[in-house]
Amino acid sequence: MLLDLQKQLNETKMDNWIFDLDGTLVNLRTYEEIYPLVIDTVLALKKIDIHTLDELALASKVYKNSRQRWDTGDLCREFGLLEIYYSILEGFIRENNILTNNALEILNLLKERGARIGIASNSMKRTIETYLEMYSLGSKIDFICSAVETGVSKNKVGFWEHLIRRFDINPMKSTVIGDNPLDDFEVPKSVGFNALLTKQNSLSDVYLRLLL
Ligand SMILES: [Mg+2]
Repeated sequence: MLLDLQKQLNETKMDNWIFDLDGTLVNLRTYEEIYPLVIDTVLALKKIDIHTLDELALASKVYKNSRQRWDTGDLCREFGLLEIYYSILEGFIRENNILTNNALEILNLLKERGARIGIASNSMKRTIETYLEMYSLGSKIDFICSAVETGVSKNKVGFWEHLIRRFDINPMKSTVIGDNPLDDFEVPKSVGFNALLTKQNSLSDVYLRLLL
């Protein structure tokens, strides 16, 4: 496995490097930290209790994650409270640097090597752009593909086929980097991408190997 990673990373002439966002470029703790404030704000503004929130959310087909928590962005979108959501998210990421270890160094290094860099995420495009703006990363990112806009999530072949067509990408000359074994590794590999699975919330291993 490590030898495979090494072999792939040594091919630095890859045209495209495509990063996952949550848990790869940015630390997932953001969502943990803002969760109570977002939920309390929704309850207060909608004047409902937590049981009603659960019922309304389920009726709008918003689902809880494996840790029995709502995706707060999806929840706020369904309740018409996206502006409030983004003001909470922006406030948090302004006060806390939540880029993962070595994310910035990797983006700089790849840019210096002339690579084209993209983000492929299940998050809303506005969420991705919020991070890019807050950390002045816009000039390093050449394209963004949001599963919410595409209407197909990253665990489906259709998402990657759409990305290939829309951004004129040769998957054989592209590497997908992310922390989800299915979304960022198995499925993109099945359509011909190179893929690197990272530890959640850290890009240190990838950075070390890029430097070799
Ligand atoms: Mg992820």
